[in-house]
Amino acid sequence: MTVDYVLAREALVRSLRRGIRDERVLKAFGSVPREHFVPEHLRRYAYDDRAIPIGRDQTISQPLMVAIMTQALKLKGDEKVLEVGTGSGYQAALLSKLAREVVSVERLPDLAQAASRRLEEVGASNVRVHESGETLGRPENAPFDAIIVTAGAPRVPRSLLDQLALGGRLVVPVGDRRVQQLVRATKSDRGVSLEQLGECRFVPLIAEREGWPEREGSANGMQPAV
Ligand code: SAH
Repeated sequence: MTVDYVLAREALVRSLRRGIRDERVLKAFGSVPREHFVPEHLRRYAYDDRAIPIGRDQTISQPLMVAIMTQALKLKGDEKVLEVGTGSGYQAALLSKLAREVVSVERLPDLAQAASRRLEEVGASNVRVHESGETLGRPENAPFDAIIVTAGAPRVPRSLLDQLALGGRLVVPVGDRRVQQLVRATKSDRGVSLEQLGECRFVPLIAEREGWPEREGSANGMQPAV
């Protein structure tokens, strides 16, 4: 069976419209080819509203959750954005349409390289993908106007709050290795305020101090998540 990706993409945007109000976010979903970011043998599922395995026990997240998180960043177009967890590169491609500059970090070198190549192929020239270093995020490029973490953390990572500009938003799943609450932290001169935006399921953020330990024999040792 062949799939008409253009029609499938339009249908996805129509279904996202039920929950997502930000027209710029919807437009970005209408213009980024998700099929380009999923493994070839799973392309026919590219526009289903579900997470899809991308290898190394990681997933490209469910479109609705990607849309909720992207909208929560409140981007207007002139921001410098950090993504932690490049994965397939799909989220970074969406961000490239919505912000001035995108820095994305990924801990698995092969995923980082594949994502970087895909982003180049779709012409996302304002995105830079880096293998993650010792500190979570990318302190050498801070401050960021918005930060999105696409893996689940045990708590709001302090080092990412440090990389946030005044007025900036950090969106991060916080919880246990399996289920999390989506949290938005907003930084102002009075401190950091936190909002809970609903339940989600992400693969774990792997980091020595502010994430989870890597499990032996698998990149994350858990069930597929969004
Ligand atoms: N945003 C991705 C999906 C992310 S899956 C997309 O659009 O496809 C989560 C990713 O976070 C995985 O690729 C995993 O390797 C990565 N990751 C986990 N811990 C990390 C860390 N400390 N720093 C950077 N990337 C991390």
